[in-house]
Amino acid sequence: MQATLLTDEHQTFRETLRAFIRKEIAPYVDQWEKEGQIDRSIWKKMGEMGFMGLNYPEAYGGLDLDFYYSMIFCEELSYCYSGGFTISALVIQYMSAPYLLKYGSSALKERYLPSIIAGDLVSAVAITEPGAGSDVKNIKTTAVRLGDYYYVNGSKTFITNGYYGDFFITAVKTDPSKGSKGISLLLIDRDAVGVQANKLSKLGWHASDTAELSFDEVEVPVANLLGEEGAGFQYLMDGLQLERLTAAIHSLATAESALRYTLDYMENRETFGKKLQEFQALRHRIATMSAEIETTKAFVYHCCDLQQWGRYAVKECSIAKLQASELAVGVVNRCLQLFGGYGFTEDYKIARLYRDVRVGTLIAGTSEIMLEIIAKMVIDGVDYDRAKER
Ligand SMILES: Cc1cc2nc3c(=O)[nH]c(=O)nc-3n(C[C@H](O)[C@H](O)[C@H](O)COP(=O)(O)OP(=O)(O)OC[C@H]3O[C@@H](n4cnc5c(N)ncnc54)[C@H](O)[C@@H]3O)c2cc1C
Repeated sequence: MQATLLTDEHQTFRETLRAFIRKEIAPYVDQWEKEGQIDRSIWKKMGEMGFMGLNYPEAYGGLDLDFYYSMIFCEELSYCYSGGFTISALVIQYMSAPYLLKYGSSALKERYLPSIIAGDLVSAVAITEPGAGSDVKNIKTTAVRLGDYYYVNGSKTFITNGYYGDFFITAVKTDPSKGSKGISLLLIDRDAVGVQANKLSKLGWHASDTAELSFDEVEVPVANLLGEEGAGFQYLMDGLQLERLTAAIHSLATAESALRYTLDYMENRETFGKKLQEFQALRHRIATMSAEIETTKAFVYHCCDLQQWGRYAVKECSIAKLQASELAVGVVNRCLQLFGGYGFTEDYKIARLYRDVRVGTLIAGTSEIMLEIIAKMVIDGVDYDRAKER
């Protein structure tokens, strides 16, 4: 499956990125997975190549490229057999820094964006709390304004890049009496006094740091407010479409890499005097998975077109995220079966893919929440404000 709007330039970019990954990322992935930490020098190397600012303005050091470059970036990184590494990169470029670009003041953007794009700073987005995951409106972290500062108290959990990262785009309640209209976004530095982080131990995504954060009277300059006070929930809902689309691309590319990896294995493994790839029952399984991936990919690419055209595609991005993540979990599970007992050992990367892919139906809105959104649009006729289209 090839996106129809891809040009020779996109293809050249893919090859350049692929060569970079082969040289600078693939050889270190096992080490990062084992140590639970990504060597920060990789962000710098990626920054030097322009990979950390693909869709950011040149004024901040970005390349200002169309969305298909980002799509390729998500795909190629996802083929590197480390969901943990990939998600750290995606969180920086597509899930946290976009809020700064869209809603940050000029001073804030000048201070942080060039460093993110150069690979000197690592960013995170801190929404989820111990008592509020799917139910974002119910967050309890407060930010009380006194003069030129907010004083932030509360806690967050499951924050990707939350332990080794440098700052968080943080959802806080500036007016707890106003529900979702009392939510604002604040940029909080990791090293601010009163911020503590604790690294979580996880089933998969071992290379990435996922943290619990606590804020104890953290003093945050009012200048670190993104956009308007009370508009944070709307900003998050808008930003989640890009987050869900990149998560969908990542899940699907993980399924693709699992299938390719399995095909290599089936070409070499023999039972009953035949290669695995010669057994009709197994060939049909591969054909079925291939058909499922290709059809879902066509839809995900359609969503990439919508993103490129600036459409506010809530239903489509929710469908893409739901379908791609659920499919990927099933595909990797079925692929592992074809490795027999070897699939259960750490000697084969399918075991890591199996661990990593599972989280896809949980992050960026669970599958149940995707179904809720789609149901509201399909059954109740809810239209998530098409007027917001850029
Ligand atoms: C590895 C990892 C990385 C993450 N990274 C980040 C990050 O960087 N930043 C961040 O802010 N968050 C992050 N998250 C948090 C993630 O977004 C949440 O885990 C997710 O939104 C679900 O929230 P929850 O875990 O509190 O589950 P809950 O909301 O408690 O849901 C529990 C179950 O109930 C279901 N459910 C909930 N409400 C409904 C409903 N209305 N109808 C039907 N079913 C429902 C859910 O689908 C789920 O199955 C990360 C999570 C993980 C595991």
